[in-house]
Amino acid sequence: MSKKVFIKTYGCQMNVYDSNRMANVLKPHGYEMSESSDDADLVILNTCHIREKAAEKVYSEIGRLKKNKVAKAAEGNDMFIAIAGCVAQAEGAEMMKRAPAVDMVLGPQTYHRLPEMLKEAQAQRDAGRNSSRVMDTEFPVDTKFDHLPEESDFDNPAQFLTIQEGCDKFCAFCVVPYTRGAEYSRSVADVISEAERMAAKGVVEITLLGQNVNAYHGAEEQGEAAGLAALIKAVAAVDGISRIRYTTSHPRDMDDELINVHRDVDACMPYLHLPVQSGSDKILAAMNRQHTREDYFATIDKLRAARPDLALSGDFIVGFPGETDQDFEDTLDLVRRVKYAQAYSFKYSPRPGTPASTIEEQVPEEVKSARLARLQDLLEQHQQEFNDASVGMEMDILLEREGKQAGQLIGRSPYLQAVHVDLQTADIALDADRDTPYSGYMDKLVRVKIVEAGQRSLKGELVGTVPQP
Ligand code: SF4
Repeated sequence: MSKKVFIKTYGCQMNVYDSNRMANVLKPHGYEMSESSDDADLVILNTCHIREKAAEKVYSEIGRLKKNKVAKAAEGNDMFIAIAGCVAQAEGAEMMKRAPAVDMVLGPQTYHRLPEMLKEAQAQRDAGRNSSRVMDTEFPVDTKFDHLPEESDFDNPAQFLTIQEGCDKFCAFCVVPYTRGAEYSRSVADVISEAERMAAKGVVEITLLGQNVNAYHGAEEQGEAAGLAALIKAVAAVDGISRIRYTTSHPRDMDDELINVHRDVDACMPYLHLPVQSGSDKILAAMNRQHTREDYFATIDKLRAARPDLALSGDFIVGFPGETDQDFEDTLDLVRRVKYAQAYSFKYSPRPGTPASTIEEQVPEEVKSARLARLQDLLEQHQQEFNDASVGMEMDILLEREGKQAGQLIGRSPYLQAVHVDLQTADIALDADRDTPYSGYMDKLVRVKIVEAGQRSLKGELVGTVPQP
């Protein structure tokens, strides 16, 4: 009999990818995806440790799920609760103690063991225990990628593909090196075979994912290690793949070969997320970022020389311990010089177990809030300016989903802007045989003229189709 699994995903794209793979691991064991935890036999919270109070949020979600679990048990039905991801890795043992409703805790490197763990949990339940206690947060040497079943369903023409996990950089504020472990890169053959499976199912855009993606050093068949530049070229050669992105990069790993890929490989999209976190050399050193602001500017100059229309995105932490007004002004100055097309910015908050969490010289909360507001005003102004400059341009847009209005499809520009395309007003032949009249355009690359720009999205008019890859 088929069972239902509900997976709630927190945080980054890596977690989105992991959740899809968990669903894939469970499928041969009779689990179908459910839209809600209410009718699920198994609920997985795939957690993220980056945001503030991450563990508290997970505990309150467990509290809600526990009520469901108790109600189901009263009707004689089983429900299992599993905690996966980075909070599980960092605080799994504590979680097992504090939340008896949790049946399983699994770290990011062990989710291929889910079916085995479920069996174990079921055996404990059958033996009369109210709650099972199964935990695996190891970093196995034989990686999960060797044990995962092949992905078969791709519901979107743009997909993520994890090529690298873990990080050896040890930025002072970050939990990733502790929750995801040391850097590990999948082999080139492994990545290419997944890209080929995606292309065979109609995927045209791949975002190569890694916590420190440009530190990629996957084994080639000859036994040598390939860098990210070589991998992008290999993925670009896969029939059907016409768009490639990669995230998240560290400035120190932007080597010349990779920079030149932005000039030489048409499939490499003119968009790069290159976090800097702060514009102050003193704070960059305290964060252990291992580069200066001048190093960063030099990299940006090279990138823009290689690809003049490159859109840049960044991450910023304001109020890192010891950040003075002048340090913050340096950040604003860096932002004015780089002019990001979009960016993510947060107030610093300590993560247990990281070196920065023990620094005494914390910045007062109200100072952090005021600085964040100023930074975000500037970033939003630049994003609006970047979007305004798109008006009148024609771009290839990959249409990925339906919009809220009838006849509207939403896609991404080469610069990762969300573009709303109104097909109702377009002079196009409708395909009346389809369930929805515009579905013939879904998942396709189309030529669009940008007619309006908001801060977070653009509006465009269809001007033609594009030869499909
Ligand atoms: S490079 Fe990124 S993932 Fe690695 S420690 Fe620094 S912030 Fe964390």
